[in-house]
Amino acid sequence: MTIKYDAIVLGTGGIGSATLYHLSKRLDNVLGLDRFPGGHDRGSSYGETRIIRQAYFEHPDYVPLLIRAYELWHELEAMKASQLFFQVGLLEVGPTNGMLTNGVRNAASQHQLVVDSISRKELEKRFPGYRLPEGNEALFEPKAGYLLVEECILAYLAHAEKLGAEIRTGEEVQSWSVDDAGLVTVTTDQQTYLTDRLIITSGAWAGDLLSGLDLKLRVVRKHLHWYACDKDSSYHEKQGGSAFFYETEEGCFYGFPMRDARGVKIAEHTGGETVSNPLELDRSVDLNDQKRIEQFLSVHMPEVKLKQTNHNVCMYTLSPDGNFIIDKHPDCSQVVFAAGLSGHGFKFASVLGEILSQLACDGKTKWNIDFLKYGRN
Ligand SMILES: Cc1cc2nc3c(=O)[nH]c(=O)nc-3n(C[C@H](O)[C@H](O)[C@H](O)COP(=O)(O)OP(=O)(O)OC[C@H]3O[C@@H](n4cnc5c(N)ncnc54)[C@H](O)[C@@H]3O)c2cc1C
Repeated sequence: MTIKYDAIVLGTGGIGSATLYHLSKRLDNVLGLDRFPGGHDRGSSYGETRIIRQAYFEHPDYVPLLIRAYELWHELEAMKASQLFFQVGLLEVGPTNGMLTNGVRNAASQHQLVVDSISRKELEKRFPGYRLPEGNEALFEPKAGYLLVEECILAYLAHAEKLGAEIRTGEEVQSWSVDDAGLVTVTTDQQTYLTDRLIITSGAWAGDLLSGLDLKLRVVRKHLHWYACDKDSSYHEKQGGSAFFYETEEGCFYGFPMRDARGVKIAEHTGGETVSNPLELDRSVDLNDQKRIEQFLSVHMPEVKLKQTNHNVCMYTLSPDGNFIIDKHPDCSQVVFAAGLSGHGFKFASVLGEILSQLACDGKTKWNIDFLKYGRN
């Protein structure tokens, strides 16, 4: 017998886990489907930590969403009764009046956010492990920090289940269709489901599951590296080490304070090789990527030891303009989706879950997401 649901969430990773939770607060009969179990390492939401910040250099219209995202992350922490967000602050360094520093200041002034300008002298005192190249400036956002990525997902899934959601993993969705009466059929490698609403949050596989839309997504392989530091190093979170983001001539690099013996975690935000099949992601170390990271470290964070202690790979799903695509499907309003999170989506998962559940249940959201709508380009 085919089972019928009020809503199905396709993909219970970063965005889908939060969506499942928000839908479960409103609907009785909700199903989350995923090929892999919660908190897995085969998509885009793993590797322990994700930066969260509010003075958004990419586009100031993200800021109201981030303010709501913070509220919802705190709500999740309260439900879980353990810490998911660590407010370590974010040091941002880039050319004076460049893309990064102008963007941060612009978002901060439009939305009255606190961002401190850090002089060279102050940098040497407060952040002795970092260098400020000539012609560059440093900013510090005290409210920024990082989230524990897998733990956030597992917490949302657990709370969705508590509210009655069903979660089926180990199932691959192969197709979906909408009939004349507006009922959605979802076909997996194991069975067929019916639902009034379908929410597609399938990360690197969004292009396949929304193939009729020609979203022009590009999936790229990204490396995460951990490098050793002294145990009493100023990069250590316990010694006031913060998250960091640098715009340099070579590209943008970011990372996290040292949390354990593996040292700082660092990655390049720019670049990345195109991935043709996300299920067959090459997980080996790329020597060229490693060299770029080590060059960055030796110039900008010279107290980090050039001894790699850990390495992971993950995927960005890039939209053409680097902004998310969040909308109802243009041909069937029962289907809503989030795609092209472009390597900066996790911090928004809490609020995107709320927005997608509103789009699916009410057909609209009170949040301004016009700048993220499908077909804007
Ligand atoms: C290295 C790296 C660093 C990052 N750093 C940051 C950061 O500091 N701050 C930040 O905010 N963001 C960051 N991001 C981006 C952020 O992590 C992603 O935008 C976000 O996690 C994407 O979530 P998602 O739900 O779209 O994808 P996923 O979490 O991958 O979820 C998609 C899910 O859909 C499932 N699925 C797909 N197709 C099917 C199918 N056919 N059948 C069944 N299941 C299916 C997958 O198994 C998966 O679980 C980073 C990303 C990477 C890779």
